[in-house]
Amino acid sequence: MMDFAATKQLFQLPDGVTYLDGNSLGPLPKTAAARVAQTITDEWGEMLITAWNTAGWMAQPTALGDRIGRLIGAEPGHVTTGDTLSIKVYQALASALELVPGKRKILSDRGNFPTDLYMAEGLIGALDKGHELVTVAPEEVLDHIDDDLAVLMLTQVDYRTGRRHDMAALTRAAHAVGAVVIWDLAHSAGAFPVHLSEAQADFAVGCTYKYLNAGPGAPAFIYVAPRHAAHVRPALSGWLGHDAPFAFDLDYRPGAGIERMRVGTPPVLQMAALDAALDIWDQVDMDALRARSVALCERFIEGIEATCPDLTLASPRDADQRGSQVSFRFDHGYAAMQAVIDHGVIGDFRAPDIMRFGFTPLYTDEGDVDRAVEIIAKVIGNRIWDQEKYKVRNAVT
Ligand SMILES: *Cc1c(COP(=O)(O)O)cnc(C)c1O
Repeated sequence: MMDFAATKQLFQLPDGVTYLDGNSLGPLPKTAAARVAQTITDEWGEMLITAWNTAGWMAQPTALGDRIGRLIGAEPGHVTTGDTLSIKVYQALASALELVPGKRKILSDRGNFPTDLYMAEGLIGALDKGHELVTVAPEEVLDHIDDDLAVLMLTQVDYRTGRRHDMAALTRAAHAVGAVVIWDLAHSAGAFPVHLSEAQADFAVGCTYKYLNAGPGAPAFIYVAPRHAAHVRPALSGWLGHDAPFAFDLDYRPGAGIERMRVGTPPVLQMAALDAALDIWDQVDMDALRARSVALCERFIEGIEATCPDLTLASPRDADQRGSQVSFRFDHGYAAMQAVIDHGVIGDFRAPDIMRFGFTPLYTDEGDVDRAVEIIAKVIGNRIWDQEKYKVRNAVT
Protein backbone atom coordinates (compact mmCIF):
# COMPACT_ATOMS: atom_id res chain seq x y z
CA MET A 1 0.00 0.00 0.00
CA MET A 2 1.32 3.41 -0.96
CA ASP A 3 1.01 6.10 1.70
CA PHE A 4 0.76 9.27 -0.34
CA ALA A 5 0.32 11.48 2.73
CA ALA A 6 3.76 10.26 3.79
CA THR A 7 5.39 10.85 0.40
CA LYS A 8 4.09 14.43 0.39
CA GLN A 9 6.19 15.04 3.51
CA LEU A 10 9.31 14.12 1.56
CA PHE A 11 9.13 17.27 -0.58
CA GLN A 12 9.80 20.88 0.23
CA LEU A 13 6.69 22.75 -0.89
CA PRO A 14 6.50 26.48 -0.07
CA ASP A 15 3.70 27.52 2.30
CA GLY A 16 0.60 28.78 0.58
CA VAL A 17 1.49 27.25 -2.79
CA THR A 18 -0.40 24.54 -4.64
CA TYR A 19 2.07 23.17 -7.14
CA LEU A 20 0.58 21.76 -10.33
CA ASP A 21 3.66 22.14 -12.50
CA GLY A 22 5.70 19.10 -11.53
CA ASN A 23 5.30 17.94 -15.13
CA SER A 24 7.65 20.79 -16.05
CA LEU A 25 9.96 21.01 -13.03
CA GLY A 26 9.46 18.67 -10.09
CA PRO A 27 9.81 20.12 -6.56
CA LEU A 28 12.80 19.68 -4.26
CA PRO A 29 13.03 16.35 -2.41
CA LYS A 30 13.97 17.35 1.16
CA THR A 31 17.02 15.09 1.17
CA ALA A 32 18.42 16.47 -2.09
CA ALA A 33 20.00 19.63 -0.66
CA ALA A 34 21.95 17.66 1.95
CA ARG A 35 22.91 14.99 -0.59
CA VAL A 36 24.32 17.57 -3.00
CA ALA A 37 26.09 19.36 -0.12
CA GLN A 38 27.61 16.05 0.98
CA THR A 39 28.85 15.34 -2.54
CA ILE A 40 30.42 18.78 -2.62
CA THR A 41 32.05 18.83 0.81
CA ASP A 42 32.78 15.17 1.61
CA GLU A 43 33.51 13.89 -1.88
CA TRP A 44 34.73 16.77 -4.04
CA GLY A 45 36.15 18.63 -1.03
CA GLU A 46 37.89 15.74 0.72
CA MET A 47 38.45 13.03 -1.86
CA LEU A 48 39.27 15.30 -4.77
CA ILE A 49 39.96 13.33 -7.93
CA THR A 50 39.99 9.98 -6.12
CA ALA A 51 36.21 10.30 -5.75
CA TRP A 52 35.79 9.10 -9.34
CA ASN A 53 36.71 5.67 -7.99
CA THR A 54 36.10 5.76 -4.24
CA ALA A 55 32.78 7.63 -4.29
CA GLY A 56 31.64 5.74 -7.38
CA TRP A 57 31.19 8.79 -9.59
CA MET A 58 32.23 6.95 -12.75
CA ALA A 59 29.74 4.13 -12.30
CA GLN A 60 26.91 6.45 -11.27
CA PRO A 61 25.33 7.23 -14.71
CA THR A 62 24.39 3.62 -15.39
CA ALA A 63 23.57 2.80 -11.74
CA LEU A 64 21.06 5.66 -11.79
CA GLY A 65 19.85 4.52 -15.20
CA ASP A 66 18.92 1.12 -13.78
CA ARG A 67 16.78 2.71 -11.07
CA ILE A 68 14.94 4.70 -13.74
CA GLY A 69 14.71 1.48 -15.75
CA ARG A 70 12.41 -0.09 -13.18
CA LEU A 71 9.92 2.76 -13.65
CA ILE A 72 9.84 2.45 -17.44
CA GLY A 73 9.87 -1.32 -17.84
CA ALA A 74 13.43 -1.58 -19.15
CA GLU A 75 15.67 -4.61 -18.78
CA PRO A 76 18.43 -4.12 -16.16
CA GLY A 77 21.64 -2.74 -17.63
CA HIS A 78 20.03 -1.02 -20.59
CA VAL A 79 19.53 2.57 -19.41
CA THR A 80 22.16 5.20 -18.81
CA THR A 81 22.03 8.87 -17.87
CA GLY A 82 23.80 12.04 -18.90
CA ASP A 83 23.62 15.09 -21.14
CA THR A 84 20.28 16.72 -21.94
CA LEU A 85 17.23 15.19 -23.53
CA SER A 86 17.85 17.07 -26.78
CA ILE A 87 21.25 15.36 -27.03
CA LYS A 88 19.76 11.96 -26.23
CA VAL A 89 17.14 12.40 -28.98
CA TYR A 90 19.95 13.07 -31.45
CA GLN A 91 21.91 10.01 -30.30
CA ALA A 92 18.92 7.69 -30.47
CA LEU A 93 17.84 8.92 -33.88
CA ALA A 94 21.35 8.70 -35.34
CA SER A 95 21.71 5.09 -34.18
CA ALA A 96 18.18 4.19 -35.24
CA LEU A 97 18.64 5.50 -38.79
CA GLU A 98 21.72 3.34 -39.26
CA LEU A 99 19.68 0.25 -38.40
CA VAL A 100 17.44 0.92 -41.42
CA PRO A 101 19.92 1.96 -44.09
CA GLY A 102 17.67 1.49 -47.10
CA LYS A 103 14.90 3.89 -46.07
CA ARG A 104 14.69 7.67 -45.63
CA LYS A 105 11.42 8.55 -43.92
CA ILE A 106 11.28 9.68 -40.28
CA LEU A 107 7.76 10.02 -38.94
CA SER A 108 6.71 12.15 -35.98
CA ASP A 109 3.66 14.15 -35.01
CA ARG A 110 2.86 17.83 -34.68
CA GLY A 111 2.23 17.42 -30.98
CA ASN A 112 5.86 16.52 -30.43
CA PHE A 113 7.98 18.90 -28.39
CA PRO A 114 9.78 21.15 -30.89
CA THR A 115 13.33 20.34 -29.74
CA ASP A 116 12.87 16.71 -30.80
CA LEU A 117 11.93 17.88 -34.29
CA TYR A 118 14.72 20.47 -34.38
CA MET A 119 17.30 17.84 -33.44
CA ALA A 120 15.98 15.57 -36.19
CA GLU A 121 16.30 18.40 -38.73
CA GLY A 122 19.85 19.09 -37.58
CA LEU A 123 20.81 15.45 -37.87
CA ILE A 124 19.24 15.13 -41.32
CA GLY A 125 21.34 18.10 -42.42
CA ALA A 126 24.54 16.67 -40.96
CA LEU A 127 23.98 13.25 -42.56
CA ASP A 128 23.01 14.75 -45.91
CA LYS A 129 21.62 11.42 -47.14
CA GLY A 130 18.19 12.62 -48.18
CA HIS A 131 16.29 11.70 -45.02
CA GLU A 132 12.92 13.36 -44.69
CA LEU A 133 11.07 14.31 -41.51
CA VAL A 134 7.30 13.93 -41.88
CA THR A 135 5.06 15.36 -39.15
CA VAL A 136 1.36 14.54 -39.07
CA ALA A 137 -1.53 15.11 -36.66
CA PRO A 138 -1.20 12.85 -33.58
CA GLU A 139 -4.41 10.97 -34.49
CA GLU A 140 -3.04 10.17 -37.96
CA VAL A 141 0.29 8.59 -37.06
CA LEU A 142 -0.93 5.04 -37.60
CA ASP A 143 -2.16 5.90 -41.12
CA HIS A 144 1.32 7.13 -42.10
CA ILE A 145 3.20 4.03 -41.07
CA ASP A 146 4.03 2.53 -44.47
CA ASP A 147 6.76 0.58 -46.24
CA ASP A 148 8.88 3.73 -46.68
CA LEU A 149 9.18 4.28 -42.94
CA ALA A 150 12.67 4.08 -41.44
CA VAL A 151 12.13 5.50 -37.95
CA LEU A 152 9.02 6.33 -35.96
CA MET A 153 9.98 8.98 -33.40
CA LEU A 154 7.25 9.95 -30.99
CA THR A 155 6.80 11.54 -27.61
CA GLN A 156 4.36 9.26 -25.83
CA VAL A 157 2.48 12.06 -24.06
CA ASP A 158 1.75 15.33 -25.85
CA TYR A 159 3.25 18.14 -23.75
CA ARG A 160 0.35 20.47 -24.50
CA THR A 161 -2.76 18.32 -24.35
CA GLY A 162 -1.60 15.32 -22.34
CA ARG A 163 -2.83 13.01 -25.12
CA ARG A 164 -1.14 9.62 -24.86
CA HIS A 165 -0.09 7.41 -27.76
CA ASP A 166 -0.63 3.65 -27.62
CA MET A 167 3.01 2.57 -27.32
CA ALA A 168 2.46 -1.14 -27.88
CA ALA A 169 0.17 -0.77 -30.91
CA LEU A 170 2.28 1.83 -32.72
CA THR A 171 5.50 -0.05 -32.04
CA ARG A 172 3.93 -3.21 -33.45
CA ALA A 173 2.70 -1.39 -36.57
CA ALA A 174 6.13 0.16 -37.17
CA HIS A 175 7.92 -3.14 -36.72
CA ALA A 176 5.53 -4.75 -39.19
CA VAL A 177 6.91 -2.47 -41.94
CA GLY A 178 10.53 -2.95 -40.86
CA ALA A 179 10.88 0.40 -39.06
CA VAL A 180 12.61 1.20 -35.78
CA VAL A 181 10.85 3.08 -32.97
CA ILE A 182 12.07 5.76 -30.57
CA TRP A 183 9.86 6.77 -27.65
CA ASP A 184 10.42 10.05 -25.84
CA LEU A 185 9.25 9.53 -22.26
CA ALA A 186 9.66 13.14 -21.06
CA HIS A 187 6.05 13.16 -19.81
CA SER A 188 5.81 9.44 -19.07
CA ALA A 189 8.70 8.54 -16.74
CA GLY A 190 7.35 8.91 -13.23
CA ALA A 191 3.90 9.79 -14.54
CA PHE A 192 2.51 6.25 -15.02
CA PRO A 193 3.88 2.73 -15.54
CA VAL A 194 5.70 2.37 -18.86
CA HIS A 195 6.45 -1.05 -20.35
CA LEU A 196 9.29 -0.56 -22.81
CA SER A 197 10.45 -4.16 -22.90
CA GLU A 198 6.94 -5.57 -23.17
CA ALA A 199 6.15 -3.16 -26.03
CA GLN A 200 9.46 -4.13 -27.72
CA ALA A 201 10.50 -0.49 -28.06
CA ASP A 202 13.86 -0.09 -29.79
CA PHE A 203 15.03 3.13 -28.16
CA ALA A 204 13.67 5.45 -25.48
CA VAL A 205 14.84 8.75 -24.06
CA GLY A 206 13.58 11.08 -21.35
CA CYS A 207 14.45 13.68 -18.77
CA THR A 208 14.63 13.52 -14.99
CA TYR A 209 13.70 17.07 -13.95
CA LYS A 210 9.98 16.73 -14.70
CA TYR A 211 8.02 13.96 -12.92
CA LEU A 212 11.20 12.41 -11.51
CA ASN A 213 12.04 15.56 -9.44
CA ALA A 214 15.83 15.61 -9.93
CA GLY A 215 16.10 19.38 -10.31
CA PRO A 216 16.78 21.95 -13.02
CA GLY A 217 19.40 20.74 -15.48
CA ALA A 218 19.30 17.15 -14.19
CA PRO A 219 20.71 14.54 -16.61
CA ALA A 220 18.59 12.87 -19.28
CA PHE A 221 18.37 9.11 -19.83
CA ILE A 222 18.54 6.79 -22.82
CA TYR A 223 17.42 3.18 -23.29
CA VAL A 224 18.57 0.85 -26.04
CA ALA A 225 16.84 -2.52 -26.39
CA PRO A 226 19.08 -5.52 -25.61
CA ARG A 227 18.79 -6.80 -29.21
CA HIS A 228 20.42 -3.58 -30.48
CA ALA A 229 22.65 -2.53 -27.59
CA ALA A 230 25.75 -4.49 -28.58
CA HIS A 231 25.89 -3.35 -32.19
CA VAL A 232 24.43 0.16 -32.54
CA ARG A 233 26.97 2.77 -33.52
CA PRO A 234 27.05 5.81 -31.24
CA ALA A 235 27.09 8.96 -33.36
CA LEU A 236 28.34 11.07 -30.46
CA SER A 237 31.44 8.97 -29.89
CA GLY A 238 32.84 10.60 -26.77
CA TRP A 239 35.62 9.15 -24.66
CA LEU A 240 33.38 7.93 -21.83
CA GLY A 241 31.45 5.81 -24.30
CA HIS A 242 34.74 4.21 -25.36
CA ASP A 243 35.41 0.60 -24.41
CA ALA A 244 38.48 1.65 -22.38
CA PRO A 245 38.47 5.41 -21.77
CA PHE A 246 41.65 5.31 -19.72
CA ALA A 247 43.59 3.40 -22.36
CA PHE A 248 43.54 6.72 -24.25
CA ASP A 249 43.61 4.92 -27.59
CA LEU A 250 43.69 7.15 -30.63
CA ASP A 251 40.87 5.18 -32.26
CA TYR A 252 37.29 4.94 -31.04
CA ARG A 253 35.96 1.56 -30.01
CA PRO A 254 32.43 1.53 -28.58
CA GLY A 255 31.91 0.45 -24.98
CA ALA A 256 29.87 -2.59 -23.95
CA GLY A 257 26.12 -2.24 -24.49
CA ILE A 258 24.48 0.88 -23.08
CA GLU A 259 27.84 2.25 -21.89
CA ARG A 260 28.50 3.38 -25.45
CA MET A 261 25.69 5.91 -25.15
CA ARG A 262 27.68 7.88 -22.60
CA VAL A 263 29.48 10.85 -24.08
CA GLY A 264 31.64 12.96 -21.74
CA THR A 265 32.16 13.68 -18.06
CA PRO A 266 28.95 13.10 -16.10
CA PRO A 267 27.37 15.98 -14.15
CA VAL A 268 28.26 14.69 -10.69
CA LEU A 269 26.45 17.34 -8.64
CA GLN A 270 23.25 16.90 -10.64
CA MET A 271 23.55 13.16 -10.29
CA ALA A 272 23.64 13.56 -6.51
CA ALA A 273 20.25 15.30 -6.67
CA LEU A 274 18.93 12.57 -8.99
CA ASP A 275 20.18 9.94 -6.56
CA ALA A 276 18.19 11.57 -3.73
CA ALA A 277 15.10 11.89 -5.94
CA LEU A 278 15.30 8.21 -6.90
CA ASP A 279 15.43 7.16 -3.24
CA ILE A 280 11.77 8.19 -3.19
CA TRP A 281 10.96 6.53 -6.52
CA ASP A 282 12.56 3.24 -5.44
CA GLN A 283 9.64 2.83 -3.01
CA VAL A 284 6.83 3.73 -5.40
CA ASP A 285 4.26 1.25 -6.69
CA MET A 286 3.61 2.61 -10.19
CA ASP A 287 0.15 1.05 -10.51
CA ALA A 288 -0.98 2.69 -7.28
CA LEU A 289 0.50 5.97 -8.47
CA ARG A 290 -1.41 5.72 -11.73
CA ALA A 291 -4.71 4.99 -10.01
CA ARG A 292 -4.31 8.04 -7.84
CA SER A 293 -3.20 10.22 -10.75
CA VAL A 294 -6.38 9.31 -12.63
CA ALA A 295 -8.53 10.09 -9.58
CA LEU A 296 -6.90 13.51 -9.12
CA CYS A 297 -7.21 14.39 -12.82
CA GLU A 298 -10.89 13.38 -12.90
CA ARG A 299 -11.63 15.41 -9.79
CA PHE A 300 -9.98 18.45 -11.38
CA ILE A 301 -11.82 18.10 -14.70
CA GLU A 302 -15.14 17.73 -12.90
CA GLY A 303 -14.43 20.73 -10.68
CA ILE A 304 -13.39 23.04 -13.53
CA GLU A 305 -16.23 22.02 -15.83
CA ALA A 306 -18.74 22.66 -13.05
CA THR A 307 -17.43 26.16 -12.31
CA CYS A 308 -15.73 27.54 -15.46
CA PRO A 309 -17.93 27.28 -18.56
CA ASP A 310 -15.49 29.46 -20.55
CA LEU A 311 -12.73 26.85 -20.31
CA THR A 312 -12.78 23.92 -22.72
CA LEU A 313 -11.04 20.65 -22.02
CA ALA A 314 -8.04 20.20 -24.33
CA SER A 315 -7.05 16.81 -22.90
CA PRO A 316 -8.71 13.51 -23.83
CA ARG A 317 -11.72 12.85 -21.61
CA ASP A 318 -10.91 9.16 -21.51
CA ALA A 319 -8.27 8.62 -18.82
CA ASP A 320 -6.77 5.72 -20.79
CA GLN A 321 -5.71 8.21 -23.45
CA ARG A 322 -4.18 10.73 -21.05
CA GLY A 323 -0.86 11.09 -19.30
CA SER A 324 -0.80 12.73 -15.88
CA GLN A 325 -1.76 16.28 -16.82
CA VAL A 326 -4.94 18.14 -17.67
CA SER A 327 -5.10 21.09 -20.07
CA PHE A 328 -7.84 23.57 -20.76
CA ARG A 329 -8.14 26.06 -23.59
CA PHE A 330 -9.03 29.66 -22.80
CA ASP A 331 -8.57 32.66 -25.12
CA HIS A 332 -6.99 34.66 -22.32
CA GLY A 333 -5.06 31.67 -21.01
CA TYR A 334 -1.74 33.46 -20.58
CA ALA A 335 -3.14 36.29 -18.42
CA ALA A 336 -5.41 33.86 -16.57
CA MET A 337 -2.47 31.61 -15.69
CA GLN A 338 -0.45 34.60 -14.43
CA ALA A 339 -3.37 35.58 -12.20
CA VAL A 340 -3.84 32.00 -10.96
CA ILE A 341 -0.13 31.80 -10.09
CA ASP A 342 -0.38 35.15 -8.32
CA HIS A 343 -3.11 33.56 -6.18
CA GLY A 344 -0.91 30.64 -5.15
CA VAL A 345 -1.72 27.92 -7.66
CA ILE A 346 1.16 27.20 -10.03
CA GLY A 347 0.44 25.70 -13.42
CA ASP A 348 1.79 26.92 -16.74
CA PHE A 349 0.81 28.17 -20.17
CA ARG A 350 1.60 26.78 -23.60
CA ALA A 351 0.92 28.85 -26.71
CA PRO A 352 -1.50 29.61 -28.17
CA ASP A 353 -4.20 29.16 -25.53
CA ILE A 354 -3.44 26.19 -23.26
CA MET A 355 -3.58 26.34 -19.47
CA ARG A 356 -1.71 23.28 -18.29
CA PHE A 357 -1.84 21.51 -14.92
CA GLY A 358 0.25 18.51 -13.91
CA PHE A 359 -0.96 15.99 -11.31
CA THR A 360 1.71 14.27 -9.29
CA PRO A 361 0.34 11.98 -6.56
CA LEU A 362 3.59 11.90 -4.58
CA TYR A 363 2.90 15.42 -3.33
CA THR A 364 -0.53 16.48 -4.65
CA ASP A 365 -3.78 15.54 -2.89
CA GLU A 366 -7.52 16.21 -3.09
CA GLY A 367 -7.12 19.36 -0.99
CA ASP A 368 -4.73 20.76 -3.60
CA VAL A 369 -7.14 19.94 -6.41
CA ASP A 370 -10.07 21.56 -4.63
CA ARG A 371 -8.05 24.66 -3.80
CA ALA A 372 -6.88 24.95 -7.41
CA VAL A 373 -10.44 24.65 -8.72
CA GLU A 374 -11.63 27.30 -6.28
CA ILE A 375 -8.92 29.78 -7.27
CA ILE A 376 -9.22 29.19 -11.01
CA ALA A 377 -12.99 29.67 -10.76
CA LYS A 378 -12.48 32.93 -8.87
CA VAL A 379 -9.91 34.25 -11.38
CA ILE A 380 -12.07 33.39 -14.39
CA GLY A 381 -15.49 34.20 -12.87
CA ASN A 382 -14.42 37.62 -11.60
CA ARG A 383 -12.21 38.38 -14.64
CA ILE A 384 -9.30 38.93 -12.28
CA TRP A 385 -6.98 38.09 -15.20
CA ASP A 386 -8.13 41.23 -17.05
CA GLN A 387 -5.40 43.49 -15.68
CA GLU A 388 -2.34 44.83 -17.47
CA LYS A 389 0.09 43.26 -14.99
CA TYR A 390 -1.07 39.76 -15.94
CA LYS A 391 -0.63 40.36 -19.67
CA VAL A 392 3.12 41.10 -19.66
CA ARG A 393 4.87 38.14 -21.28
CA ASN A 394 7.76 36.52 -19.40
CA ALA A 395 10.59 34.69 -21.21
CA VAL A 396 9.56 31.38 -19.67
CA THR A 397 5.81 30.77 -19.70
C1 LIG B 1 10.86 18.73 -21.76
C2 LIG B 1 11.12 18.10 -23.07
C3 LIG B 1 12.37 18.24 -23.71
C4 LIG B 1 13.45 19.11 -23.13
O1 LIG B 1 14.71 18.86 -23.67
P1 LIG B 1 16.01 19.36 -22.90
O2 LIG B 1 17.13 19.03 -23.80
O3 LIG B 1 16.05 18.67 -21.58
O4 LIG B 1 15.87 20.85 -22.70
C5 LIG B 1 12.58 17.55 -24.90
N1 LIG B 1 11.61 16.79 -25.45
C6 LIG B 1 10.40 16.65 -24.87
C7 LIG B 1 9.37 15.79 -25.51
C8 LIG B 1 10.11 17.32 -23.68
O5 LIG B 1 8.91 17.21 -23.12
